[in-house]
Amino acid sequence: MPADNLASLLAAATARLKAAGSDTPTLDARLLLQAVAGLTREDLILGPDWPLMREQLAAFEGFVARRERHEPVSRILGEREFYGRVFMVTPATLDPRPDTETIIEAALAVMPKGASLLDLGTGTGAIAITLLAERPDATGMATDLSPEALAVAASNAARLGVGDRLTLLEGSWFAPVSGTFDIILSNPPYIPAGEIAGLAPDVRNFDPTLALSGGADGLGPYRVIASGAASHLGEGGHVLVEIGAGQADDVEAIFAAQGFQTAGRHHDLGGHTRCLGFNRT
Ligand code: GLN
Repeated sequence: MPADNLASLLAAATARLKAAGSDTPTLDARLLLQAVAGLTREDLILGPDWPLMREQLAAFEGFVARRERHEPVSRILGEREFYGRVFMVTPATLDPRPDTETIIEAALAVMPKGASLLDLGTGTGAIAITLLAERPDATGMATDLSPEALAVAASNAARLGVGDRLTLLEGSWFAPVSGTFDIILSNPPYIPAGEIAGLAPDVRNFDPTLALSGGADGLGPYRVIASGAASHLGEGGHVLVEIGAGQADDVEAIFAAQGFQTAGRHHDLGGHTRCLGFNRT
């Protein structure tokens, strides 16, 4: 008999999401239930017999149905936790991934005191905002082609208390940028255009194509970043880019052609080379 207490709702939703192919059905169901009920994880453990109100039940049913159609939990809830902070996510922005925390760790290790940083293709602002929040002495600039994404980044920057240290500029890569920086970073779109159709529906149908496609070979943005970095990197500065699977050698060759040497290969939690660091030879 279907009951409407927390424990039975959680169990039923978990079974549905598992059947729909989610890799993380238990976590998904819990996060969606916590959101509709306004409860913490502890509340769910302590009060498995609590019932939900009718409107909460309807909202939960709607959320579970969306997740069954492969919409990521972060998009259903409109937010995602990244490096311990909550970022607003909209259809105009890439959903920041845990793998991107690799570039954060790599940047924190090389940022000088009072660093100036430039984040190209900032999306939600996850990279620039996280670094500014971690380093209150740093200032930054971030660009994006999408004005809608920049509005999201502005809102995230204000809410996370770094709005006064971050300048957001609309335009392609370095086009709106002048000056030099201690750290230039980017998690650019790097999927070869022909592979987008074969991505999981959770990605293909919900992340903006603009944020995914790196052109025919997936490397187009790295060519633009390497050539622009040659004139925008300050003395002793570092460039850090996130890369896709198997792209390390090609991206290193692109940067070498612009006079950069590899300063580090950084691995994600899955052991893949996820971020490359460069400085000048
Ligand atoms: N810089 C943003 C992020 O890492 C957006 C990246 C993108 O849209 N490709 O989440």
